[in-house]
Amino acid sequence: MAAPPPGAGPGIEPGVGPPLESEVPLGAELAARRDDAVAAVDAGERDFGRLVEAARSVSTDDEHDPEGVGLAVERALVVAALERARERVARLDDALARLADGTYGRCDTCGGQIGADRLRALPATTTCIGCASAMGRRSLGG
Ligand SMILES: [Zn+2]
Repeated sequence: MAAPPPGAGPGIEPGVGPPLESEVPLGAELAARRDDAVAAVDAGERDFGRLVEAARSVSTDDEHDPEGVGLAVERALVVAALERARERVARLDDALARLADGTYGRCDTCGGQIGADRLRALPATTTCIGCASAMGRRSLGG
């Protein structure tokens, strides 16, 4: 009955692992990650709706209700997670489009090839490690 499904979860670890072209095809990997991101958006939207409902029932006349404050904080976290998930979907859509037109894996900034390790860790990235770290130094403000 409860046999674990074969091959569920490739178990990719950062830094070690098989080369990019083995195991899961890149398109399938990107599509699977996109599915995950879409599911995260769905879950975030459900959480958000639930918190909006909860806030409506809590904060009618007592603005200093500690529960109301907790809900506001929680809602801010849910909104932030939701935005990240939506951004991830957009980036993965973009990566799939680039895969389809043959520009996937090329650095947007210098036009060079992005390393396989980096693509495996960050399949939706559009910059090579060199450009990314140069940019990070310039624009990483927090
Ligand atoms: Zn580059």
